[in-house]
Amino acid sequence: NNNNKTILVTGCAGFIGSNFVPYFLDKYPNYNLVNLDLLTYAGDLENLKECENNPRYKFIKGDICNRELIEFIFNEFDIKGVIHFAAESHVDNSIKNPGVFVQTNVNGTFTLIDVAYKYWMDKPFVYKSNYQDCRFHHISTDEVYGTLSEDPNDLFTEKTPYAPNSPYSASKASSDMIIRAYNETYGLNTVITNCSNNYGPKQHDEKLIPTIIRNALKQNPIPIYGDGKNIRDWLYVLDHCKGIDLCYHNGKTGETYNIGGRNERTNLQIVNRICEILDEKLPLVTGTSVPMGWTKVQFPKSYKELITFVEDRAGHDRRYAIDATKLENELGWKADENFDTGIVKTISWYLGKYNAKG
Ligand code: NAD
Repeated sequence: NNNNKTILVTGCAGFIGSNFVPYFLDKYPNYNLVNLDLLTYAGDLENLKECENNPRYKFIKGDICNRELIEFIFNEFDIKGVIHFAAESHVDNSIKNPGVFVQTNVNGTFTLIDVAYKYWMDKPFVYKSNYQDCRFHHISTDEVYGTLSEDPNDLFTEKTPYAPNSPYSASKASSDMIIRAYNETYGLNTVITNCSNNYGPKQHDEKLIPTIIRNALKQNPIPIYGDGKNIRDWLYVLDHCKGIDLCYHNGKTGETYNIGGRNERTNLQIVNRICEILDEKLPLVTGTSVPMGWTKVQFPKSYKELITFVEDRAGHDRRYAIDATKLENELGWKADENFDTGIVKTISWYLGKYNAKG
């Protein structure tokens, strides 16, 4: 349909983007989506199989740092909006290899927004009157705010000063600042969302919840950092997508919105809850056996017995928690899932992925 508006979405072969694309295509029949993704180790087109044959969806393999390619995409598809997910996203990798985080998250974001700015605003006869309809939405994280005390009243708001502690959060904080500058300096129509930890289907195996489920199913040790008492605020991925939808359409220009589920959990609570659900769904065969006539082996009775504490992550932030009042009051957002409902859906999905019955 020629009257359709085409939006460039980046990094949607990854976890959040691949949950967002089917949701967005389904909800807005007047949008076409072009997905630019480099397919790094974190991207998997399998995540978007359900969209492959949708005529309003197109995939392009490429790097957000590649200016020529992005200029080509803007011209070819007459891009009218950007929702920018692409990033290096794993904190542990950023500790080992920070350079690629600066390259993708900082330089890549700069390249994208600079092309968008020039395409939308340097075309006075085409867009001068309506360039404000063209929006650049940057997806970011609550980790830019640093860490919180354990006082439950201490929450990240949009006014909390940035204090990133890992190379990952520092690169995301830098990208947020670039977006801010393009709004302040050039008047580009931007919006930023800073979200708490997501969980749900399609998350990469390296992340906490898939790691717990995968190891539990193999009856391998389940590694938990430090004392397991680090606190994160967990949000079901589709609730994040719904928040992005609201902010992309109704968020005020130049503003930041925090998205978070008010579901604080320690890592230990997360792993215990997952083990309890697995104990119910896939009870372990209990008893003892004497393999090869040598050692007597006691099988675990609960998946909880597999929990193993490992050396803490360097610079591991103690607590993150989001105050989402602005998003709730201004745009009427509310999470549909709480952790107890979302985690059951998530586990069911991974049981399918890992071919376990339950
Ligand atoms: P992910 O690692 O699962 O996916 C990232 C995607 O970006 C992958 O498909 C990868 O191939 C692609 N990519 C990486 N480098 C690229 C490049 N140079 N050019 C083009 N594509 C590239 O990440 P995710 O968890 O889906 O996170 C998406 C966004 O949301 C990120 O910006 C992240 O900072 C932010 N975020 C994530 C969480 C979370 O809990 N996962 C929370 C808040 C914010």
